[in-house]
Amino acid sequence: VFDVLVVGGGPAGASAAIYAARKGLNTGIVADKFGGQVAETVGIENFISVSKTEGPKLVANLENHVHDYDVDVMDNQRAVKLTANRLFDLELENGAKLQGKTVLLATGARWREMNVPGEKEYRGKGVAYCPHCDGPLFKGKRVAVIGGGNSGIEAAIDLAGIVEHVTVLEFDSKLRADEVLQRKAKSMGNITIITQAQTTQVTGDGQRVTGLTYTNRQTGDSHQVELAGIFVQIGLVPNTEWLKGVVELTPRGEIIVDERGQTSIPGVFAAGDVTNTPYKQIIIAMGSGATASLGAFDYLIRHSDE
Ligand code: FAD
Repeated sequence: VFDVLVVGGGPAGASAAIYAARKGLNTGIVADKFGGQVAETVGIENFISVSKTEGPKLVANLENHVHDYDVDVMDNQRAVKLTANRLFDLELENGAKLQGKTVLLATGARWREMNVPGEKEYRGKGVAYCPHCDGPLFKGKRVAVIGGGNSGIEAAIDLAGIVEHVTVLEFDSKLRADEVLQRKAKSMGNITIITQAQTTQVTGDGQRVTGLTYTNRQTGDSHQVELAGIFVQIGLVPNTEWLKGVVELTPRGEIIVDERGQTSIPGVFAAGDVTNTPYKQIIIAMGSGATASLGAFDYLIRHSDE
């Protein structure tokens, strides 16, 4: 039986496991793929104290740091079911069952993709999902933001301060973003908003993105826009499909946590992009992993004689 059973091997899970192990707790970590979203990241320039690194490098550092401690790392294992009995039972896809006195959910999230030709090919070569991360790479260039919801319009406003010009493409006939954000975006001189636009292709020169094509859904006409970057902002999906009906989730599927990272079930904690905490970043995920782990430690010292 683990004192702390962490599910997820991204920055939040790794940080939680290290904090738990440093308290002398018997710690296990189950990860579908150790490293999480960081493994897919090319350049990272906002991990404070490290001016510049790459995803795979940071993943290797995370892994080494976890291995400095006596943590049972179960990589390439997917959790499929969590049940609360006297202890918490975690069932894996391969049928194995693990038990924890506390469970710490850090299964992260995934960006919703457009699923158009060129998107995968140019991911990290002009196709981006995180304006806080990659915005500065497009300084002085022309970019597009796909999606006119709050995150899309926030991204456009953010990027407009850095890049030369932003074209926002919204599928619907109107933007879904809050009125105040729409007003702000419209007041900026270098944002063009196009509605009823269905992106159909990402184009490039083999090395990098050079533009995109979209269809005007009203007229059916196809248009080409030349630009250097495309920020896809059509949703961040938390990996909580398997937790529906177990812990309390927001309507968007994020796990609701309190200030100690505890979920609606005492003894079950959560951290990182999978939770309802705002701003999804590596440094934030690590901080929340530490918080939730200390929350679990607190819980254990109060329940140790049960
Ligand atoms: P994740 O990194 O998503 O990790 C989730 C973990 O849970 C993975 O190990 C996964 O395999 C595992 N998992 C999921 N479901 C299960 C299951 N059922 N059973 C077992 N394991 C499971 N942030 C920055 O700060 N700077 C950047 O430059 C930056 N660039 C980015 C670039 C890209 C392309 C992307 C996609 C994201 C970027 N981010 C960046 C965001 C950052 O990667 C995330 O905020 C961070 O990784 C979140 O950490 P996490 O541990 O919460 O989740």
